[in-house]
Amino acid sequence: MYKAKSEASRTVIYNADQDAHSPRRLSMMSELGTAIRQNQLVLHYQPRIHIASKRCMGCEALVRWQHPRLGMVPPGEFIPLAEMSDLIQPLGLWVLEKALQQIAAWRERGMELVVSVNLSTRNLMDAAFPSHIEKLLQKFPVPPDLLEVEITESTLIGDPERALSVIDRIHSLGVRFAIDDFGTGYSSLGYLKRLPIDTLKIDRSFIRDMLMDEQDAVIVQSTLGLAHSFGLDVVAEGVEDEKTLEALQKLNCEQAQGFHISRPVPADVFEAWYRAEGNPPA
Ligand code: C2E
Ligand code: MG
Ligand code: MG
Repeated sequence: MYKAKSEASRTVIYNADQDAHSPRRLSMMSELGTAIRQNQLVLHYQPRIHIASKRCMGCEALVRWQHPRLGMVPPGEFIPLAEMSDLIQPLGLWVLEKALQQIAAWRERGMELVVSVNLSTRNLMDAAFPSHIEKLLQKFPVPPDLLEVEITESTLIGDPERALSVIDRIHSLGVRFAIDDFGTGYSSLGYLKRLPIDTLKIDRSFIRDMLMDEQDAVIVQSTLGLAHSFGLDVVAEGVEDEKTLEALQKLNCEQAQGFHISRPVPADVFEAWYRAEGNPPA
């Protein structure tokens, strides 16, 4: 009904996947709080590399839920549920804590890596969030610029002033920011100027088809031009083959992430991959 009301046609066919109140979702919602407290969540890490040197520059932490009955549940299924409830705050903090713990553990073994985490818009509407991050940075004393927060263009749609103030406070702690899925939201170039971002990640929908679709290639090329003139690092997301990687290098795109390089994997598998690829220390 809510979906029908929001569509111009006023009619939609019932689809259980979109129903927040389906039995599966209702039970997941009631279990999620316990899952966070009992460490049923786990972070997988996907590398991003410097295309020309193939060196690993960092990785993205992606959350999964190891559900006792349902098996591995992807974030697309439970993050929206967390966002509908107050669980998005403890979930965001859990992810940050685990990521910082991992940064510290890797540093001890000589791997100095930038780890990016995804925060929800609601985390960035929460005026208390920066002080929570500050406490976590005291608990795990790692250089704050090894932590990068990924936000999307839609973060600034609802209440831009409030989100910008939270973002600025987190940035003043020395934490880096990246804009995720760039090109899919209602991009306002004005926001690019106001946001303290270091990295721009081009959405995988443009990368996927850039070799076949001239318009996607133009979007990738123009985004690179724009990002470079703002002095930002660019990461192409969702690179699935060598030909796309080569094309990106020709367009002067510095970094890439995607299944062709590695799928998101548990921390120990990531570490083995990192060393096998000849990254420092050898
Ligand atoms: P994202 O931040 O854009 O993350 C990239 C997604 O693309 C990941 O899906 C990753 O597995 C997938 N991917 C990477 N390379 C390729 C590729 O070459 N081909 C294809 N087809 N896909 C690729 P995943 O892990 O299912 O995460 C989906 C989304 O869930 C993320 O999109 C992010 O928006 C959200 N998410 C993940 N972890 C968290 C988290 O800890 N907190 C919050 N708030 N959101 C999260
Ligand atoms: Mg991301
Ligand atoms: Mg993305």
